[in-house]
Amino acid sequence: MTRGKLVAGNWKMHGLAGDLDAVQAIAEGSAAHRGVDVALCLPATLIERAVRALPGFAIGGQDVHAEAKGAHTGDISAAMLRDCGATLTIVGHSERRADHHESDVAVRAKAAAALGSGLDVVLCVGESREVRERGDAVPVVRAQLAASLPDWPGDARRLAIAYEPIWAIGTGLVPSIEDVAAMHAALRDELAGAYGEPGQGVRILYGGSVKASNAAEIFAVGDVDGALVGGASLTAADFLPIVAAAAAAD
Ligand code: PEP
Repeated sequence: MTRGKLVAGNWKMHGLAGDLDAVQAIAEGSAAHRGVDVALCLPATLIERAVRALPGFAIGGQDVHAEAKGAHTGDISAAMLRDCGATLTIVGHSERRADHHESDVAVRAKAAAALGSGLDVVLCVGESREVRERGDAVPVVRAQLAASLPDWPGDARRLAIAYEPIWAIGTGLVPSIEDVAAMHAALRDELAGAYGEPGQGVRILYGGSVKASNAAEIFAVGDVDGALVGGASLTAADFLPIVAAAAAAD
C-alpha cells in the first residue's frame, strides 16, 4: 500500500516571534515537494501567528489535554488548538510521558480528544535504553502502542504513529536499520490487529536524531512512512533536505 510520507517537525520549547522566518522558509521550501505531507508542531504561543502567516501549511501543537475545558492550569484543549488554526497535535511524546508522568491510558484519552475535535494525531511510542539493551524493545513498544491507541479514527490519514526510541532523541544515536525495520513491522502488525485492513493506511514515522545525513537510509525502510524530527526541524537548512529525502524515497 502506498501511504505517502509525512515529515513532521517538533519544535519543543523553542521559538520566539523572530523564528517565524524559519517557519516561513520551511513552508515555502516544502511546497516544492508536493508528494510529501509536511507539518511543524510549534510552541502554542506561535501557532496562531504561523497559521495567519502561512495559510495552508500544516501547523500543530505538541500536546493536548484530554478534557474539553476545566481547571487545568497551564494546559491546552483540543478546541483551543483548533481555534488558533492548528490541524494536528503530537500526543504521548516521551518527554511528556517522563516529565508529566503521562501513562498510556492518559495518552489514549488525549488522542481520542484530539481526534474528536478534528485534530489529526501523531502518537509517540518508544523504548528506553535499558529496555533496548535487555532485548525487550519490540514487545514493550508493541504493548505501549496497544494501550495508547485510540478507537479507529474513521480515516487512516488522521492518525500517525511515531516510533521514537527514547535513547535516540537528541543524542545523535540511531538504531540499526534492521532494528528500525523490525520495530516498524511489529507496529504495523499491531495496527492490523487493532484496526484491521483500514489500519494499513496509518503511517508509522521514525523519530530520533533524524538528519539530512541519515534520512535517505531511514526512509528506504519499507515500513517507515516518514519522520518526526526534533532538533533538525528548527531551521530550513537542516529540515528541507529531510523533506527532500522523503520525496525521493517515494
Ligand atoms: C523528538 O523529540 O521528537 C525528536 C525526534 O528529537 P530529535 O530529532 O532532536 O532527536
